[in-house]
Amino acid sequence: MRPICKLCNKNYCAINYYRKGITYYRSSCDECGRSKNKLKPRTPKWKTKGYKKKAACDLCGFKGLFTSQITVFHVDGNLENTDLVNLRSICLNCVEVVKKKEVNWRRGDLQVDY
Ligand SMILES: [Zn+2]
Ligand SMILES: [Zn+2]
Repeated sequence: MRPICKLCNKNYCAINYYRKGITYYRSSCDECGRSKNKLKPRTPKWKTKGYKKKAACDLCGFKGLFTSQITVFHVDGNLENTDLVNLRSICLNCVEVVKKKEVNWRRGDLQVDY
């Protein structure tokens, strides 16, 4: 029996493949499968919070040609912490450095309140 799509509970599930006379179905219908693929990646938290990625790297000053060369880094490693003091714009090169060793951010950059 052909199962009903779990996502919309409306359409029949799309056919996945046939094997030995048995039909295997996907867990969703064609429609839902397609719209799932079309979904854009979620907006990062820092963006919703109003942080703007800088054009230059906070660490080395590198200026990217494309904004994709600069990434937003969470100082404490917690992606949920979108406090402005926790966010840095750094180039992809520096991401590697920061990940591998502790970086002393410029003094005054970070205000820890504990
Ligand atoms: Zn569906
Ligand atoms: Zn850099």
